[in-house]
Amino acid sequence: MLAELQTSEVEEAQPPSWWAAAACNDSRGSLTALFFSEELADIARAKAICTTCPVREPCLEGALARREPWGVWGGQLFLNGRILPFKRKRGRPPKNRRPEDIEAELIHAELVRAGMVRPGPVPEVVERTA
Ligand code: SF4
Repeated sequence: MLAELQTSEVEEAQPPSWWAAAACNDSRGSLTALFFSEELADIARAKAICTTCPVREPCLEGALARREPWGVWGGQLFLNGRILPFKRKRGRPPKNRRPEDIEAELIHAELVRAGMVRPGPVPEVVERTA
């Protein structure tokens, strides 16, 4: 029984089969800080990377099932096991673009140039409301 328990614990510690194909998996964990950042620009960048990811669906399903406490998973920002809703500020868009909007546009343009995402709208950097 102990051997079975140890085996199942080891199996649980293994990454899922789709992890090798994940866009955020560079085998060095160099993107970990980005996916667990509190900075809006970082969150937007992480979400932009998720848009290129071939395993976005199982990643999101797994994060919901595990009730991930924090981080960007499957293109969504999680807090305490739930997807954190984001909403634009009320009123008109700002006259001058914010630095995080500009950065998100630059990152998106790089990803489009690299053929990692299709041309289209830039993932929004919006203000957290909750
Ligand atoms: S969907 Fe995002 S967080 Fe999930 S594996 Fe892909 S890049 Fe990583």
